[in-house]
Amino acid sequence: MNHTLQDLRASLHQLDGNGYGAYKRLKGTYDAGSFDLVIDHVQSDPYAPPSALRVILPLPKTSVPAEAVDGRRRCIAVADFLARDITGLLCGCSYRGLGMTKPGQEILERTSVVVTPRTIEVRMSASLPAAGRRIKGRAAAHVLTDDLPELVQRSAMLDGMDVPALEDHVNQYLDQRALQDQLTERGLVSFVGDGSVLPRSSGDSDLPLRSGVPFRSPEAFRETFDLPSGRQVTGMGVRQGITVIVGGGYHGKSTLLRAMERGVYPHVGGDGREWVLTAPDAVSIRAEDGRSVVGANISPFISNLPSGTDTSRFTTTNASGSTSQAANLAEALEVGTTLLLIDEDTSATNFMIRDPAMRALVPAGAEPITPFVERVRPLAEEKNISTVLVAGGTGAFFRVADHVIAMDTYVPSDVTDRAHEIAATFSTESETTPTAAIFGEEHRRVPHHDALSPSDKKKPARGRGRESIQLGRQDIDLAYLAQLVDSSQTQAIALCLEAMARNLDGSRDLVEAAAQVTSLIDREGLDALTGRGSPRGDLAQPRIQEVHAAVSRYRKLKLR
Ligand code: ADP
Ligand code: MG
Repeated sequence: MNHTLQDLRASLHQLDGNGYGAYKRLKGTYDAGSFDLVIDHVQSDPYAPPSALRVILPLPKTSVPAEAVDGRRRCIAVADFLARDITGLLCGCSYRGLGMTKPGQEILERTSVVVTPRTIEVRMSASLPAAGRRIKGRAAAHVLTDDLPELVQRSAMLDGMDVPALEDHVNQYLDQRALQDQLTERGLVSFVGDGSVLPRSSGDSDLPLRSGVPFRSPEAFRETFDLPSGRQVTGMGVRQGITVIVGGGYHGKSTLLRAMERGVYPHVGGDGREWVLTAPDAVSIRAEDGRSVVGANISPFISNLPSGTDTSRFTTTNASGSTSQAANLAEALEVGTTLLLIDEDTSATNFMIRDPAMRALVPAGAEPITPFVERVRPLAEEKNISTVLVAGGTGAFFRVADHVIAMDTYVPSDVTDRAHEIAATFSTESETTPTAAIFGEEHRRVPHHDALSPSDKKKPARGRGRESIQLGRQDIDLAYLAQLVDSSQTQAIALCLEAMARNLDGSRDLVEAAAQVTSLIDREGLDALTGRGSPRGDLAQPRIQEVHAAVSRYRKLKLR
């Protein structure tokens, strides 16, 4: 390397007043003393997406202690700490022009800051300034050769480091992951720590409600965990099997379930949900009418449609409430999950239950839907899949529930015995009790080798915000995936679809194809998704469940 930051400054001064395209010459690596600056990509005009830079520091020259980066989990936590520190500095107005993707409340492996035992790499964007279509070289020099070095110096990578705060952050993350690792051996599917603040400050914010009533576990479900840092956490353990959450309207049922669904990810300190942890493969299941379904096996729930359609390979461009919910469940089973999370608020009633009056009027033979209440026990018994279900409007699940939790003014209590007594006094006529296994081996859905490479595709798939991926001319709608929490995950899923498109060979099924790319990420990190392209700072790790959900919603998916 032979260019320094002084050379960059001189070049920028020279470029002042030139046509904007001349900025392209800046691509390259510059020695900035305490760090290397790499300019990977230069925007082609002032309105194009900003230019991409990396700041690279050898770890021993930073303020991050070597012990803090021992192992992958620690590296993720340190990277998260630095990303929050740097985005915090950037959100003031002193560094206009520089940007970085901002982490939300979850702690995810991401590429905005990549920490290894050898280096710290920070990936940022810079909007290179222009007057009309002319280069403002002095202003650009200010951004890149004054502001940027100052930001790096002030950040926690160097002068701004608070080692005890870093250690707290890392230990808390390790404790959360350790608690999550222990759930299964303790017979639990989820845990909600005492003192957690579950409600959010508003419907469009993921920050805690300041006046929220702290969570208090009922004695019957109380569990204590001893965690690696020496911390002890007590709270409510949600056991394997079938748990129903009941309670009056507005008493906090959905809020509790939503916290559990986010508990597949660790949370940042101060979030209120730090000690809410859930089986990492849990899937929220809801109705999603209008979605596309391709070849899903919904036959355990829906069969004998009047049209004669085969529901073991069900395809529709416009699913109804109940068929969409059945497809969501079938796909969750296909990709593998140990826990289903279902809220009555977002469910199709006819998918969930059928009351005695309706059974009397419409005979079972004339009804294609076998409601979930008839299937939840076979799921648990045949496939070991637990369910946590919110039901405020129906007692139909009492007789199949292992545990019933009542929410009263945001405080849970154990009402299992009472619910069982009540269920026994009502007639419990169910539809024909199944004798044979209902949930057989999963059907494999095998796409054609070119199923994800449509002819209308000119550009690689890309994420658009959190909720959508553009693949060719199609938009894949991900709005209803409750556990897709970050637009950087959506970007990564878009790249996963690209990798899957390359790997499909006409014999690999969708789950195998998704697993191939998610295990590549596990082995080699998110940068494996970009291959030889320039490194990106806008990716975060998705779960296989959401990768599989995205491909399942692609409207042009063609199966063999
Ligand atoms: P339900 O599903 O039982 O009808 P919700 O979970 O939707 O109730 O909660 C109703 C309202 O109460 C929401 O505005 C929510 O933010 C608020 N809320 C939930 N839990 C708490 C709590 N622990 N403290 C304060 N407010 C809460
Ligand atoms: Mg609700």
